[in-house]
Amino acid sequence: MARRLRQLADLPVTALRGVGPKSAHGLEQAFGITSVLDLLTHYPRRWIDRSKEGRIADLEPGEEAMVVVRVERTSARRTKGRPPKVLVTSDVTDGTGHLRVSFFNQAWRERQLPAGTSCVLFGKVDLFQGRRQMTNPVVDLIGDRTGRILPIYPSSEKERISSWDQARWLEEVLERAGDFADPMPADQLRRLGLVDRTTAFRGIHAPETWGEVEAARRRLVFDELLRIQLALVLRKRLLERTAKGIRHDVGARSDGGGPLVRRFWEGLPFGLTRAQQRAIDEIVTDLAGPHPMHRLLQGDVGSGKTVVAVAAMLVAVQGGHQAALMAPTEVLAEQHALGVRDLLARFEVPTGAHEETLFASGGTARPLHVALLTNRTTAAERRRLGEELERGRVDLLIGTHALIEGGVRFRSLGVVVVDEQHRFGVEQRAALRDKGAGVVPDVLVMTATPIPRTAAMTVYGDLDVSVLDELPPGRTPIRTRWVRLPAEDGGAPPGEPVAEVEAPVWDHVRREVAGGRQAYVVCPLIEGSDKLEARSAEETFERLSVGELAGLRLALLHGRLPAADKESIMRSFRAGQLDVLVSTTVIEVGVDVPNATVMVVLDADRFGIAQLHQLRGRVGRGAAASTCWLVAAGLTPDAEERLAAMVRTTDGFELAEVDLDLRGEGTIMGERQKGRNDLKLASLRRDREWVEQAREVAFALVDADPDLADHEPLRDELEVFLGDEEADFLMKS
Ligand code: ADP
Ligand code: MG
Repeated sequence: MARRLRQLADLPVTALRGVGPKSAHGLEQAFGITSVLDLLTHYPRRWIDRSKEGRIADLEPGEEAMVVVRVERTSARRTKGRPPKVLVTSDVTDGTGHLRVSFFNQAWRERQLPAGTSCVLFGKVDLFQGRRQMTNPVVDLIGDRTGRILPIYPSSEKERISSWDQARWLEEVLERAGDFADPMPADQLRRLGLVDRTTAFRGIHAPETWGEVEAARRRLVFDELLRIQLALVLRKRLLERTAKGIRHDVGARSDGGGPLVRRFWEGLPFGLTRAQQRAIDEIVTDLAGPHPMHRLLQGDVGSGKTVVAVAAMLVAVQGGHQAALMAPTEVLAEQHALGVRDLLARFEVPTGAHEETLFASGGTARPLHVALLTNRTTAAERRRLGEELERGRVDLLIGTHALIEGGVRFRSLGVVVVDEQHRFGVEQRAALRDKGAGVVPDVLVMTATPIPRTAAMTVYGDLDVSVLDELPPGRTPIRTRWVRLPAEDGGAPPGEPVAEVEAPVWDHVRREVAGGRQAYVVCPLIEGSDKLEARSAEETFERLSVGELAGLRLALLHGRLPAADKESIMRSFRAGQLDVLVSTTVIEVGVDVPNATVMVVLDADRFGIAQLHQLRGRVGRGAAASTCWLVAAGLTPDAEERLAAMVRTTDGFELAEVDLDLRGEGTIMGERQKGRNDLKLASLRRDREWVEQAREVAFALVDADPDLADHEPLRDELEVFLGDEEADFLMKS
C-alpha cells in the first residue's frame, strides 16, 4: 500500500528510531515539528555540492571556497579592544592542509565545534601571519554523511538540532515510508511535466543530481500552491452555490447601471477613465446576478477607486437597499463621509424608497441620507442612527470597525464596500455579510495598495478581481527626492550636520507655501506605540514652528487627539487655512487635498514601501507639480532598496513587486490566511507561473467535481493540511 500523507501526519516524530524525547522536544520548540509529516515537509534550506569542494592545500588567499574539514581544537578568549569581543578560534584540517577559523562574537561556536566535529565551511580565505584562515565562515555540520549533494536543513543551536540530525531522521523516514500515494492523476502530472510524489520527496531530501533537486522542487511547489488554490476555489464556488444574494435592479444595459448610477457619473466634473468604466461594468454585472458579489478592486493610489465604490453603492440604493462603506481609520471614515456627501449632494431618493416600496413607486422625494458611525459616535446618536437604519432612513452608512459590531442593524443591506488596507480579516468580512439577515450582501473589497498579480491570486483567490490600471488624465508626475542624512550610529562617516542637509527641504516647503500651496510633514513610525509617535510629531511640530518653518501656519495632527480636534484640523487644512500639517501616519491613506504639493517624510527608512507609496499619494492630486521628500539615513540594505525604489518609480504595481521581493510572501500571506500558510518551498515571486497553473488545475478539478468526491486521496490530503473544520465546511457533500 502506497503511503498517504495522513498516515505520516498521525505519526509522532518519536515513532522514528533516531528521535528520542529530547530531540522531539527540540524539534517542536525550534520548528513546531511534531509529526513525521512535519519533518518530511521541513525542507532543506539549500544543498551543498561536494564536487565543488576545495582542498585546503590549494586554496588561494582572496578566494571564496568550500572545504569539508575535521576540527582539531577550538578555544575562546576575549579580545582587548573596546568593547571587548569574544573570539572563538578553531584549527581544522582536511588532510591536505590546515586552516585557522575565527569567529567574532559567536561564543556558542565553542560548543558547536569541539575537536573531532566534521563540518563544511564556506568563506573567503585570507592570509594572517603567513597562515591560511577564514573569518566568520558559514558552517554546516554534516557528520559522516556522504554523497555528492548534501541537503542543509535549518538548524537550531539552542535546541541542539543540527542539519545532520535531520538528514539522518529523514533518511529513516524515506526508507520506512516506502512509496508515496500520489493524489494527482498520472496524466495530469505528465501534462504539467511534474514528477511523482515518491520521486519528489526523495529528490528534495536525498538527491543524487541537481536535476533531481529541481524536479522535486517543482512538484512540491506545485502541491503547496494547489492546496491553497483548491481551498480558495472551493470556498469561492461554495459561496456561489449556496449563498443567496440580491438580484439588484441595474436597469437596461444601455442605462449605465440604473437611474441613480447614471445620474452620478453624468454629474461628475470629469469623465470616467476606461479602467473605471470597465470596473463599474464588472461590478454592475455581478450585482445584477443571483450570487453575492465578492470582488476585489485593485488600483494604484489616486486611480479613482472612490468613484467606483460610490457607483456600486448607488446600485443598492436605487433598488431600495442600503449600502455600507467600512474604512480602516476614523480619519478616513470621516473623510470618506465628507467626500461621499459631497459627491452625492442634492441626490434624492423617493420617500418610502426603503421603507416599503421600491424606487419606481410614486410619492415625494427626500434627500439621499449618508450617515457616519465611528467609535466616537455617542450612545444617544448611535441609538438614533440605529433606529433610522432599521427604518431604512439611512441609505449609506460610512464608518470604521464600529459598523460590524453587534448592535448595528440594517433594514436591507445590499452592498458593502471594505476599504481594506490589509486590516480587515476574513472574520470581519464574514461578520459584515451576516448583517444581511438571510441574504448575503454584495461585497467589494478595495485594497489601498496594489499587490502583485500572483499574490492577489493567492491571498484573495476566493474573490473576483477588477483592476484600475490607469490614472485619470492630467496628473503631473510626483518628483521624489531622497535626502540622505549622516548616519548616527557610526555606520557611515559623519557628514554635514543634519540641519544643513535638511535645509533644501524646508526652503522648498516655504517656497510652495509662498505660492499658495500646502505641505505635509510626516513623522517617524514608532512601532507599536501610539504615544511615542504622538510625541515625535509633537517635537517635530515644535521644532519647525519656531525654527525652519517659523511664521507659517502649522498644525499638529495625531491619533491621540480627540476626534473633534482631528476633524476641525483636517477641515481647516482642506479649506486652506493651514499651510503645513505635521502629523503621524494618521494621514496615510485616502486623505485628499489637491492643493497640497509637498510631502516630507521624516525617518523614511522606518516605513515600508506600501506606506511610503500611500504617503506620497497624498500629493500630486491636482494639476500642479508635486514633490515628495524622503528624509532618511537609510542604514540597512533593505531600507536603501526601499528608498531607491521609491525614487525610481511611482508605479504602485512595480513597487508592490519590489516589496514582495524584499519582504517575502510570509507577510502578505500572514495577514489574511493565518494558519493556512502552507508555503514552505513555493515563492509567489519565483514560482509565478506555477501559481497560475495551480489555479487553473484547481478550477478544473472543482468545476468537474465540486466537493472532490471522485478525488478521495486529494480530499483526504486537503483535510490534513486545512484541518477538519475548514475542510468539512468546504467539502461537505
Ligand atoms: P484612490 O484610488 O486613491 O482612492 P480617489 O478615489 O481618492 O483615488 O481619487 C483620487 C482623486 O482623483 C480624487 O480627487 C478624485 O475626485 C479624482 N478622480 C477620480 N476619478 C477621476 C477621473 N476619471 N478623472 C479625473 N479625476 C478623477
Ligand atoms: Mg481612496
